[in-house]
Parts: sequence; structure tokens; C-alpha cells
Amino acid sequence: MARTLFSSRHSGNLATHVGDDPQSVQAARNALARSLSTSEIIYMEQTHSDRICEVTEDHQSIYDGDALITSRKGISLGVLVADCIPLLISSSSHIAAVHVGRQGLVKEIALKTFHAMANLGARDFSAVIGPSICAQCYEVSEEMYSDVTALIPATATSPEKHCLNLQAGLRAQLEGVGVSVSDLGICTKESLDFFSYRRDVETGRQVGVISQ
Ligand SMILES: [Zn+2]
Repeated sequence: MARTLFSSRHSGNLATHVGDDPQSVQAARNALARSLSTSEIIYMEQTHSDRICEVTEDHQSIYDGDALITSRKGISLGVLVADCIPLLISSSSHIAAVHVGRQGLVKEIALKTFHAMANLGARDFSAVIGPSICAQCYEVSEEMYSDVTALIPATATSPEKHCLNLQAGLRAQLEGVGVSVSDLGICTKESLDFFSYRRDVETGRQVGVISQ
């Protein structure tokens, strides 16, 4: 049974790339790991790519990608976000933490992660969508709106508002391959308990964490 957790801004900024003192970031990461009783949370160098990294016995210190998969017990996988979707996937044998922004959705990183897990023998998938910017708040240009909705119709809201529904797009992709998906339904831009890039521009990152 996998355990999942989504931090809020009250756990502090957990990203090293947004200009905060590295020691205070490390202290926040250590406190989070302690609160989860986990020996280690593994993070990624996220670049809105569709690269997927598997964490094995001899694991690296840096994972350059936007999805982590493991079957190892006792370690935790983390995804850093501030509006993008932190997606946590569990299954019969493997877990995954996935960074799904607009670009990741278009590149189908969540679907690719599902297929990678299935190829490793995983079955009985379920996924949870963590706090992320909602369909009322995520306005993009009209051109971007028409490009994304042409590729992923479920992201559509209305052409007048041209806001994208990333959660519906992600849900459509995953439910299409039989993954059951739940959504916490928290909007990072509206809730002041969370970091939001759209709201604050210069901001920290919260995490979604999964372990088994
Ligand atoms: Zn919202």
C-alpha cells in the first residue's frame, strides 16, 4: 500500500533552483523526510521533458527527468511544483512521481510513465492529482489554447476565456488506459496555503511524495 503526501507552503520551499539559501532548503527537506519517517526523498532535476528515470538499488544522486519510478521499499519519490500537477501513481509493484505541466501533458509523460511501469510488470494502477492550478485560473493565449485543445480535447473550457483544464486532460489520458484517478481539487493559485507561480512569479516549490 503506497503512502502519499502533498506538502503546502507551511513546510517551506523544497526546491534548490529558485534562489533560496541551500541550507534552509536542505533543512526543510530533512524535516519533511523526518515527518514521513523515510530515510530519503529522491528529487528530480525537472525540465518539462518526457524523460522517465527508474530508481534502482544503485541509485544516482541526480535524476534528470520529470518522472521517477521505483519498486524499492523505504525510499520516497518527490515531485516539485508550484501550479503544475504533482501526479503520484501506485500499482501492485511500482510507484511513480510525475511532473505534469502543460508541456508534460502534451508530451504524454504520465501515459509514458504508465507504460514504463506496465513494462516492468506493474498492474492495478491508481493515481492521485495533487494541488495544482485549476481550469478557472489557468488562462493561456488564444493560440496556445487552440493548439493544446486540438491535441487534447478534454483540456477545453471555453474559447472566450481560453483557460486550459490540465486536470481533465490528464484524467482523460490515464482513464483511457484504465487507471483510476482521484483529484484533491485544490487550486494552488486560489489557496494561499500553496506556492503558486502564476500568483507570485518568484516563489518556492511544494512537493508530492510517494513511498511504499
Ligand atoms: Zn483556481
